[in-house]
Amino acid sequence: MTVTASSPYPLYPELVQYPHPTLRKRAAPVTVFDDRLRAFCQQMFLVMQRHQGVGLAAPQVAVGRRIFVTDHLRKRDDPEPKDRRVWINPRIERCEGQTSYEEGCLSFPGLYAKVQRHNRFTIYASDEWGVERALDLDVEAGDFLGIVVQHELDHLDGKVFVELLTAAQLTLVRKRLRELEADYKTATGKAGAVLRR
Ligand SMILES: [Zn+2]
Repeated sequence: MTVTASSPYPLYPELVQYPHPTLRKRAAPVTVFDDRLRAFCQQMFLVMQRHQGVGLAAPQVAVGRRIFVTDHLRKRDDPEPKDRRVWINPRIERCEGQTSYEEGCLSFPGLYAKVQRHNRFTIYASDEWGVERALDLDVEAGDFLGIVVQHELDHLDGKVFVELLTAAQLTLVRKRLRELEADYKTATGKAGAVLRR
């Protein structure tokens, strides 16, 4: 008799949208760097590419693990990968200054808003083989990747960019939020994890 340990990673992950509850939960650290993890990372790149994204976090495919992938140099409709990177158990340190950028999110289609982010910082993360590296980023010096990784890192803490909006900004996007909530209810029969503000 053989026993197969269950994997936290689906073979064919699918994008989930607000208000799916996994988007609002803190993800768990990755402790095992194996072929299943690496296969999952490749699947995440496919999901990201299919949906024309430059970043995708595991909670966006309903997986509560501290993983995200990026391809920040890829332009819309670009058929080829440009600079694919895997970020596992990431953390940022030595944050300095503030900057802002108009962000969107694959889990909030049709919703864009300018949010405040750190300007300079160091990010530490492991790749899919468990090798940790550090990278210094400076958004105002041209590192768009610095915006992408802050957005994706928030996803791992169950935080979505809409939570960073001011009351005035929220008023502008509330109609779209209600539409997404209605779509989710129609598709699943559940209310989901609705933002209350
Ligand atoms: Zn997002």
